[in-house]
Amino acid sequence: MDTFRALSARCAREAVEMLAAEPGAVLAAGCTDLLVRMKDGKVRPSAVISIDRAADMWPIEDTGRTLWVGAGCTHADISRSPLVAEKAPLLAAASAAVGSPQIRNRGTLGGNIATASPAGDTIPALVAMDARIVVEGLAGQRAIEVGQFFLGPGKSALGSSEVIVGVEIPCDEPGDVWAFRKLGGRRAMSIAIASVAVHAHLERGVLSRVAVALGSVAPVVVRARMLEAALEGRRVTAELLAEVCPLAQEAASPITDIRGSREYRLAMVEALAYQALYAAVWPDEVSEPRAKWEAQAGEAQREHECCRHGRPGPSPAEASDADGARGPCQSASESQKAETLGGDSDSIRVHVVVFGELACRVEKADMTLDLPRGSTVADLYRHIGLADSSYVMALVNHRREFDDKLLSDGDEIALMHPVGGG
Ligand SMILES: Cc1cc2nc3c(=O)[nH]c(=O)nc-3n(C[C@H](O)[C@H](O)[C@H](O)COP(=O)(O)OP(=O)(O)OC[C@H]3O[C@@H](n4cnc5c(N)ncnc54)[C@H](O)[C@@H]3O)c2cc1C
Repeated sequence: MDTFRALSARCAREAVEMLAAEPGAVLAAGCTDLLVRMKDGKVRPSAVISIDRAADMWPIEDTGRTLWVGAGCTHADISRSPLVAEKAPLLAAASAAVGSPQIRNRGTLGGNIATASPAGDTIPALVAMDARIVVEGLAGQRAIEVGQFFLGPGKSALGSSEVIVGVEIPCDEPGDVWAFRKLGGRRAMSIAIASVAVHAHLERGVLSRVAVALGSVAPVVVRARMLEAALEGRRVTAELLAEVCPLAQEAASPITDIRGSREYRLAMVEALAYQALYAAVWPDEVSEPRAKWEAQAGEAQREHECCRHGRPGPSPAEASDADGARGPCQSASESQKAETLGGDSDSIRVHVVVFGELACRVEKADMTLDLPRGSTVADLYRHIGLADSSYVMALVNHRREFDDKLLSDGDEIALMHPVGGG
């Protein structure tokens, strides 16, 4: 790394003046992005102006109809803030998806915005919420609509001696719904291969003010306008979502890179749009039943009862004469009895077929499993030993589903590597 002068600004104004006085200088907030680029020699500043002590960029404030989030807030500050959780929960969810605890403790909202990466996690959330980015320059402050701020990968409307001081986000109103979905190469420390942020208003089952923002599938974060229009004013059902979500692809123009192919990104952006909209409209279905079930059953009992890795359920023939033996998997005949008796059985039976290379990683490519009621797609991966696989795509009853989708009795599940990816 080249040598550079280290400066420290006590407030945004001082940072602006320092930047104006030294054109070769750069700002440094959490340094999670800047240091990497300096080490790679992509940025060679004559001076680095630290703004991590500029306390005027820390506040998170309810200003009435909008929430103000200072650019110096870290992702950890934002994801833990009760005010953000109440007024702009979509931003809290997006911030919680950034990197790892270490990155979230250092990395700031301002740094994420200034980097202007189409893969920046907070950006789809800001776009879906119609935020305004407030910047300060020598002439004072100006607010830029988020849709006009990003001009291309790494390019933005930020002037050379301007500092991002914060964002203004319209506060959520009763009936507003939201969700953020991100697909990365792994669960943490992963830059998005594709991401989707949804923000909308839901009243009596009808969607309005629908905003679906797509990350990592175009030079800048884009709105899926055709998909939004197809949902506007419509009574939302899972069938409608499945019908219109292919429209998400219309807004995407992804590239093939080390993280995923163009085809893979197109397929995934549709899947993520479906997942995000589903989770926004039916959040309880995605999270609560599982939480309730876990609270009742307890994790220990759940571990005891669940099917172990690669252990296939009995075949229909085995099931028909399986009177006794009960291993960790409940026998198929017993669960059938429980269902037939109309009781509320603690288990469900699903049929799983594993395709392609993935089939080599499980004991049987075609199996019937009895799983504890409340199991999700992710639980299924764990049961059969696929939890560590980077990419498994689940089709549940012929529809792409997401990891936290609750499984139901009788589900037909196909597991495969997604087309063209990973
Ligand atoms: C291992 C690792 C994992 C990561 N994972 C993710 C991830 O999952 N999701 C994600 O979105 N990002 C991720 N990042 C990228 C990075 O951590 C985030 O973009 C972070 O928000 C950057 O903030 P920072 O404060 O560290 O910015 P810095 O590194 O301090 O600065 C980045 C750029 O922004 C400019 N800048 C900073 N603050 C301001 C300001 N207030 N006004 C104007 N310009 C400013 C700087 O001059 C610099 O050019 C990851 C990075 C690493 C190293």
